[in-house]
Amino acid sequence: MNLSKEECLKFVKENDVRFIRLQFTDIYGRMKNIAITDKQLANAFQNGVMFDGSAVAGFSGIESSDMFLFPDPSTFSIIPWRPQQGKVARIICDIKNHDGSQFEGDPRYILKRTIKKAQDLGYTFQVGPECEFFMFYNDDEGQPTTITHDSASYCDLAPIDLGENTRREICIVLEEMGFEIETSHHETAAGQHEIDFRYTDALTAADSIMTFKMVVKIIAQRNGLHATFMPKPLPGVNGSGMHINMSLTKDGVNLFSGGQTESDISVSAKQFAAGLLDHIKGITAIANPLINSYKRLQPGFEAPVHIAWSHMNRSPLLRVPAPRGEGTRLELRSPDPSCNPYFTLALLLEAGLDGLNRNLSLPDPVNVNIYTLTAEQEENLKLERLPSNLLFALEEMKKDPLIQSTLGSHAFNKYLAAKVLEWEDYDNSVHAWEIEKYLKAY
Ligand code: GLU
Ligand code: MG
Ligand code: MG
Repeated sequence: MNLSKEECLKFVKENDVRFIRLQFTDIYGRMKNIAITDKQLANAFQNGVMFDGSAVAGFSGIESSDMFLFPDPSTFSIIPWRPQQGKVARIICDIKNHDGSQFEGDPRYILKRTIKKAQDLGYTFQVGPECEFFMFYNDDEGQPTTITHDSASYCDLAPIDLGENTRREICIVLEEMGFEIETSHHETAAGQHEIDFRYTDALTAADSIMTFKMVVKIIAQRNGLHATFMPKPLPGVNGSGMHINMSLTKDGVNLFSGGQTESDISVSAKQFAAGLLDHIKGITAIANPLINSYKRLQPGFEAPVHIAWSHMNRSPLLRVPAPRGEGTRLELRSPDPSCNPYFTLALLLEAGLDGLNRNLSLPDPVNVNIYTLTAEQEENLKLERLPSNLLFALEEMKKDPLIQSTLGSHAFNKYLAAKVLEWEDYDNSVHAWEIEKYLKAY
């Protein structure tokens, strides 16, 4: 609704809002919230609302645990599925330490810092995400299964697509919360969906991705389904990606449009793209944060494996979709929806700016289906691959100084330590696959 503090307080008073949920995101990309009553809102704007930072994984230590949520009134929105008498609203918050300084591990602050850097150069980073997700049945105990509610595929319609009503309701709720929904469709795998909302500035986009995931999960649950943003819930079929469409504007003009020919993109677009390709290995542990993320990044499932770019080809990492002029954009296809969107967008912007700053040149596009290349062809094309598992991705993250300088040492160190533990836990487990393959055979 883009309200000021005063407008927010007035709206709350005049519209029977009884509770306000103060939302924030932890470093692993999970939304958290604390509810306050309407009477506390003015005080929250003024003094913040205290919470125990040591109880949020990746935030503060027990010795300096008092942290404060400061609501950003521009993110105020009514929660449409809660009672309309005695309404519930939400506001996304910034996080401060008890001495009033910014908490340097706050993902929103980390993105804002990079946005400010771009703004000082006159740039606005515009982002349009494409979020994919699955919806599954719950079992009799209400626990999620991996049984899909339909057998539809790409762009199928009802009655095959049983998710249609749920998707419709998700779109309506999102619109009520201020989203501009562009398209929604059934994705390629059974039970898989995609809803695309209009591009916005990067901070709004990251806030919107968090809101989107909350809405999808809740509306699915109200329809008896479990929605998941787990990147690869089922083997043998496509996983869920979160393609990020990006452009850079200066004085309202898209800097990516206007190359040498009609179909060409600008020098800035090429340098930005080259920056993305240059840093993508280091970014992967953030954009693809789970052990499971790497099960999606396999050949043959419309997800990237190689570090390459092209125009229309959907097999490489970076694509330049058909629209030109103001619609010119780069589409990065590796991120998945389990990532922390604040971190991911901050890193993509930093990588692009680095490409501009160093005048990096873009290699030739790869216009063949990369999935079907032989090892020899891959070698001839000098194609590099994305890290193939979380451990390798963490090693790349450590090697690229841009990652730590963007995230700051608090978030970088906490994230790295937690992800190393996650890898070790996985590595120390004996998986169902191993029992099935080896127990009888050896
Ligand atoms: N689901 C695919 C992925 O994992 C993307 C399909 C598409 O091109 O939309 O990235
Ligand atoms: Mg898609
Ligand atoms: Mg796409």
